[in-house]
Amino acid sequence: MNAPTFAFNTLDQRANALIANSYYEASVTRPLADDPALDTAIDADVCVIGAGFAGLSVALECRARGLSVVVLDAHRPGWGASGRNGGQTLVGFAKDEIIERQLGLEGARAAWAMSIEGVALVRERIERYRIQCDFTPGYLTVATRPKRVPDLRAWMESASQRWGYDRLSWLDTDAIRSRVASGRYLAGVYDPFSGHLHPLKYCLGLADAARREGVQLFANSPVIEVVRGGRPVVQTPDGEVRCRFVVVCGNATIGNVLPAPVAARIAPIASYIVATQPLGAARANALITRREAICDNNFFLDYFRLSADHRLLFGGRASSTGASPAQLAQAIRERMVGVFPQLADVKIDYAWGGFVDVTRNRAPDFGLIDPNYFYVQGFSGHGVALTGIAGRVVAKAIAGQTAAFDLFAQLRHARFPGGPALRRPALELGMMYHRLLELF
Ligand SMILES: Cc1cc2nc3c(=O)[nH]c(=O)nc-3n(C[C@H](O)[C@H](O)[C@H](O)COP(=O)(O)OP(=O)(O)OC[C@H]3O[C@@H](n4cnc5c(N)ncnc54)[C@H](O)[C@@H]3O)c2cc1C
Repeated sequence: MNAPTFAFNTLDQRANALIANSYYEASVTRPLADDPALDTAIDADVCVIGAGFAGLSVALECRARGLSVVVLDAHRPGWGASGRNGGQTLVGFAKDEIIERQLGLEGARAAWAMSIEGVALVRERIERYRIQCDFTPGYLTVATRPKRVPDLRAWMESASQRWGYDRLSWLDTDAIRSRVASGRYLAGVYDPFSGHLHPLKYCLGLADAARREGVQLFANSPVIEVVRGGRPVVQTPDGEVRCRFVVVCGNATIGNVLPAPVAARIAPIASYIVATQPLGAARANALITRREAICDNNFFLDYFRLSADHRLLFGGRASSTGASPAQLAQAIRERMVGVFPQLADVKIDYAWGGFVDVTRNRAPDFGLIDPNYFYVQGFSGHGVALTGIAGRVVAKAIAGQTAAFDLFAQLRHARFPGGPALRRPALELGMMYHRLLELF
């Protein structure tokens, strides 16, 4: 069910179009818009921009520390990547080797410990707030190409021996093929603690919990400017929030709210997902016998999982330049049938997409614009669990415990070349280069 919504910049407009046929939106049976728009001036300790996983986590964690919190969203909770993603709830980072290279071994161990806490936090919140979002434990990282098998093995060994995560186990070709009915996979790593969930239901559950805890949520309230200072003022078209702290969690469609050098540290990469018709329990279980979430270790990766109603949800990147929604769905469907030829007869019921906020080095980007003005961005396709921990880390920093925030803020980020208009074409060129490399 779609709430009435509007677009306030071009990317936002494109993102809006990409959820018109979302399985997640269709499988949430409650009304999606029940928060008012901000139409007056109010005061709060903390003003959070964006009601996705990150913003809602900041809000919950700040409330837990006794602060008054306002959350403003240009649309509604879960409208962004948090309500459209693959649902894979994972430990670690998009590029773990960068984390170790930049933070050193001790720093990488500390960051990994927080990423594990991130998955634990998702699982805890589902329990504590009784969120019905179909969490299913189990995750497989798989290799499709011989030269990526040693990479996968090396990653597993680093995670176990260097970064302090000893729950992983190795699956050779026979073992992986007994669990995933595809001839494509050569090896896999099993993680019993990571898993998958229905992200929109989880996000709406977090929003309910935030309201119950006394957070004031406003929908259809795009922030147009943050007036910086000792007591910042966050302005929307019809209202403003005067606060002590601002936290920006607006992701790829934020527009020009952030200072340009900070905005240039991320670029939006479109990713698309299709949902098949319901396959029935037997056919679904035959595809992925233990119903784990699965992702390969290619640069242009495929990610997929079964839904609670026995559909295959299959996602990946398809070139978007000029492609219609039907062509995008067809491109992802072809990738799905490449993995599972036995699904050639299956109908696609839903197809949707969103923008992943990637940094150049794929490490998350947490920073300060002023001592009372925070931002978190750049989860690089690895945000379901990490956004939760980002919220905790920021709330602790606001409360004066800055160690965890400082660790992430040490990560160095380069800017994408060009202004907002050039950032995507430049990135597309870089991606084409990687696509070529993957052909060999
Ligand atoms: C198709 C897709 C698949 C993905 N799959 C996975 C996966 O399987 N596993 C994983 O870990 N990660 C995945 N990700 C990444 C993950 O979804 C994100 O990292 C995460 O949801 C980011 O959460 P967020 O709260 O930072 O941003 P969002 O959820 O995007 O929320 C940002 C919010 O800010 C609001 N906003 C923006 N600008 C303004 C403004 N000016 N004023 C007010 N509000 C504003 C938006 O309306 C939006 O609601 C995927 C992403 C996509 C798009």
